[in-house]
Amino acid sequence: MIASRMKNLHPYVPGEQPKDRDYIKLNANENPYPPSPLVSKTVAKAAKKYAAKMALYPDPDSNELKAAIADMLNKTGGVLCRTELKGGKKSGSGAACTPSATDKIPFSVTPDMIYCGNGSDEVLSFVFYAFFDGDRPLVLPNFTYSFYPVYAGFYNVPLDQVPLKADWTLDKEKMLSDANAHDTSIIFANPNAPTGIALSRDEVRKMIQAAPKDRVFVVDEAYVDFGGESCIPLLAEFSNLVIVRTFSKSLCGAGMRLGYVVASPELVNHITTVKNSLNHFPIDFLSQQGGIAACKDAGYYAHCAKLVAVERDRFCDFLRERGWFVIPSQTNFIFVKKDGVRAEETYRKIKQAGILVRHFSTPGIEEFLRITIGTHEQMNELKRVMDNL
Ligand SMILES: *Cc1c(COP(=O)(O)O)cnc(C)c1O
Repeated sequence: MIASRMKNLHPYVPGEQPKDRDYIKLNANENPYPPSPLVSKTVAKAAKKYAAKMALYPDPDSNELKAAIADMLNKTGGVLCRTELKGGKKSGSGAACTPSATDKIPFSVTPDMIYCGNGSDEVLSFVFYAFFDGDRPLVLPNFTYSFYPVYAGFYNVPLDQVPLKADWTLDKEKMLSDANAHDTSIIFANPNAPTGIALSRDEVRKMIQAAPKDRVFVVDEAYVDFGGESCIPLLAEFSNLVIVRTFSKSLCGAGMRLGYVVASPELVNHITTVKNSLNHFPIDFLSQQGGIAACKDAGYYAHCAKLVAVERDRFCDFLRERGWFVIPSQTNFIFVKKDGVRAEETYRKIKQAGILVRHFSTPGIEEFLRITIGTHEQMNELKRVMDNL
């Protein structure tokens, strides 16, 4: 009854979403802040004034959303945390947002360089389908985003998982020599997950220069807005670079399911071909409207990203003062452990106190907890709970 390909499937296990009580959720790297008020207003208006549109198919290629994303990237330099904010209200909403000098993109991102999909998880799956062959091992770090091996199973792509170095950074040399030995692609998250460590743009540039030119090089920038450097400026130098981004983390939109690729128009066309062979209309009308509105209020999201980064650094200090080992993070989460502390037990005790954090039982990282950074109040509550343990 069941197709034999099903034996290759090893589904991803997301952070738990229990309903038994009102937990403080610090386990799925969601943003603790709601979307910009402009998003709520726009979606409500779309649902009411343009209700008839919900009876029709949405724009299959999200053209207006692509244009809005391109515009936001050009105005922010593709990263929110270091932008300059001007004007706006106290919430940051409506504030103009200009890139810092180092983040300015040296060309104009155009809509034909954007592919939009139903969350970056779907976008990633199409990237796997379009660019990774079954005849050579895809190079990626171990550890990185744990959905990549899931897709590799789904699409029958063999993996070459290169262990992280002792300091939890990527083993760039080994990844590059393996990629060149097999003429194959490389994928990783930058900043990486679950470590939170980022490579600088210059480090990624050197990697792409040394990697196979005829294979796609994929950088997943899900967390870049919290302190990393975007590789979007490198698209001027490399036609094989594919950058994957999401609205789920820094754009407070995990429930809207929006992700996108920034790459050359040629590579975007290939991903579109996959989409049109599998799911013609990946983004519904309301999410397209919400996404367009979000892109118009980058100032609000920059404000939120800065709040998260400040809270992260405070919480890291708190843990270090108490003897925890904290990997320096450029993201909205931290990866921490402490000698003599059993991570799984600590996770359970914190849960009993009403806060969810993430524990992976994966060998090699089973001593760590991954803690998403929430609001100031949420982190104060976690501090209180941890001091009582
Ligand atoms: C959260 C995350 C994603 C998935 O984002 P969605 O857009 O919600 O599907 C992709 N890559 C990494 C590294 C992530 O952490």
